[in-house]
Amino acid sequence: MAEKILIVEDESSIRGFIRINLERNGYIVFEAETGESGIELVREQHLDIVILDIMLPGIDGFEVCRTLREEFPLIGIIMLTARDLDMDRIMGLEFGADDYIVKPFNPMELVLRVEALIRRMGNALDTDEEHQILKSGPFVLDNYSQKFFKGAREIDVTPKEYNIIKLFMENPYRAFSRDEILDQVWGYDYIGDTKIIDVNIRRLRRKIEDCPSEPKFIETVWGIGYRWKGPKD
Ligand code: CA
Repeated sequence: MAEKILIVEDESSIRGFIRINLERNGYIVFEAETGESGIELVREQHLDIVILDIMLPGIDGFEVCRTLREEFPLIGIIMLTARDLDMDRIMGLEFGADDYIVKPFNPMELVLRVEALIRRMGNALDTDEEHQILKSGPFVLDNYSQKFFKGAREIDVTPKEYNIIKLFMENPYRAFSRDEILDQVWGYDYIGDTKIIDVNIRRLRRKIEDCPSEPKFIETVWGIGYRWKGPKD
């Protein structure tokens, strides 16, 4: 599957130059003129890599990088810089970029950097699979350590809540009836009211939703039950 790459850069000529060269190599390219709109796009789309200019109107590339890293620990970030900056600091813990390119650069260098990063990310993903890591939007479920994260923040969940989230993340977009959730999470021999599902869902929404009364992640399917809204692809 072709990787999706976002370019965040206010100069349209540079965006165009990068776009042409990435598309020529089979990548799917998105563009943003500002850091704010770039962050929005990452939240909406399932993106693999962000090529991020430092000098931007509004919030600068450093701030964008820090925000993205907090919310999307696994996204690849390549910084574009025209200045002679302390790149160790940019790529270190403070901002957490994966690589950088100094302007002006040639198309070959750009494509090589992107390919190298995808290779490194691919290796990381293989390891993730061994550890059974599930990802969906800002959420990461680690079956190895049985931990659940939203961005960089760990969310405390009960074992039942954990298993509901796991069921959802393994089956994004699928509507589950309350009976199905009961069977899958509580087991077939459970005898009791399906209201217990609603209680658990309400508690989960309070833990993971920005606004629990207008849930973005766990959707109510009227007359049936619930479904997990994965990131838009
Ligand atoms: Ca710029």
